[in-house]
Amino acid sequence: MAESEKWVKLFESFVLTEAQLLAATLDAAGIPARLQGGTAATIWGDAPGALPQSVVEVRAEDIDAGREVMARLYDEQGRKSRDEVPEAWTCEACGERNPGDFDICWSCGATRGGEASEQA
Ligand SMILES: [Zn+2]
Repeated sequence: MAESEKWVKLFESFVLTEAQLLAATLDAAGIPARLQGGTAATIWGDAPGALPQSVVEVRAEDIDAGREVMARLYDEQGRKSRDEVPEAWTCEACGERNPGDFDICWSCGATRGGEASEQA
């Protein structure tokens, strides 16, 4: 490692796969990233008592670009998880609560709009 290259911590997580995903995303965006800790610390046992925390580092000059990539990544993930878990709704016909991914009432079979014939 060249001495002139200063690496700084961009992200840390106890979830190794999360750090790996970020490192891979940075790499794909053309930002060199390296992963520290995680399973490596566990395998080598060089940090007794320390938590197996994964750290993603980027070069100091890339920290701003790295933060942007990270923000985009988590923004996308946030949107996806919101899409995957739609808001629950209440059946207008019988008043039962239905999970957001149900299109018809589990209890009475009415559509989400409240009328069996309506195609919202
Ligand atoms: Zn119902």
